[in-house]
Amino acid sequence: GDPLLTVENLRTVFDTDDGQVQAVDGVDFSVHRGETVCIVGESGSGKTVTSESITQLFKSPPGSIADGSVVFDGDDLAARSAEELTHIRGARISHIFQNPQGALNPVYTVGWQLIEAIQLHQDIKKDDAREEAVDLLSRVGIPEASARLDDYPHELSGGMKQRVMIAMALACQPDLLIADEPTTALDVTIQAQILRLLRDLQAEFEMGIIFITHDLGVVAEIADRVVVMYAGKVMERGSVYDVFESPSHPYTKALLECLPGHGSLGGIPGSLPDPIDPPEGCRFADRCPYAMEECRTGAQPAFESAAGDGHEVSCVHYQTADDPSVLERVGAD
Ligand code: SF4
Repeated sequence: GDPLLTVENLRTVFDTDDGQVQAVDGVDFSVHRGETVCIVGESGSGKTVTSESITQLFKSPPGSIADGSVVFDGDDLAARSAEELTHIRGARISHIFQNPQGALNPVYTVGWQLIEAIQLHQDIKKDDAREEAVDLLSRVGIPEASARLDDYPHELSGGMKQRVMIAMALACQPDLLIADEPTTALDVTIQAQILRLLRDLQAEFEMGIIFITHDLGVVAEIADRVVVMYAGKVMERGSVYDVFESPSHPYTKALLECLPGHGSLGGIPGSLPDPIDPPEGCRFADRCPYAMEECRTGAQPAFESAAGDGHEVSCVHYQTADDPSVLERVGAD
């Protein structure tokens, strides 16, 4: 069927004292019901801003959508104001973040906040909302859930807080869950539990999930499809199988080579281009071992089909890799 969400040519900018930052610069992807799309990249890749753009929930500095469309269930959210999206946020689209601290109010008990969230979206009595809150807390794996209702957020461990935040995000049974590094701050055991939990709940609720992460181990664990971003642009996209099995963009290859042991993207030498005045052509050119003259002119390299269904890559080298003269020039044998 039709995708739940289709993002097309999304451009999101931030005004700063030094000029306009092109945080997201022409990004396309889609998410179907019951599907998890991971957006992967280093900090500065635009992955978080892409996810924030969907409901215009920008953290500082204030961002705005300069171009493109964000069609959610037939409705172009990009054409609406941030205020107009308040009713969609936390209702049909929920967010979970890396730091549950900020998402929970320290002044109120867990139960109060959860019951409030449930009653905001369903016309039910307090006692029924309370019962549902207990049910949600047990579903996210919180033991003795009814006793936890009276706890304040500071009385819970980090892992428990994260689970409460997920319960809050699920209280409205969202169609789309946007999770930005939700497990990064947690130890690996809890992280694995939460990823499993998200997958189970996704199967049950048929949610679409957008999962933002820099951790390729997490991607392998949870993604159906992957969007690899660099400097505000998509470099490669495809099924998790195709992208991991036959990575085609030099950036993706470099990321996967950095994987063993830590799964972090920190291992590629060089730095991101200036986001205020980005270079022409391929934005990865300064760090790419295959960079050629034609990589540095004109627009971003066109997307070419790679091995696999819907597997696409934006790279001049990839397009011409079968041409021996090019292979010679890039030093391959
Ligand atoms: Fe490297 Fe050129 Fe491909 Fe960019 S377009 S990744 S610089 S080969």
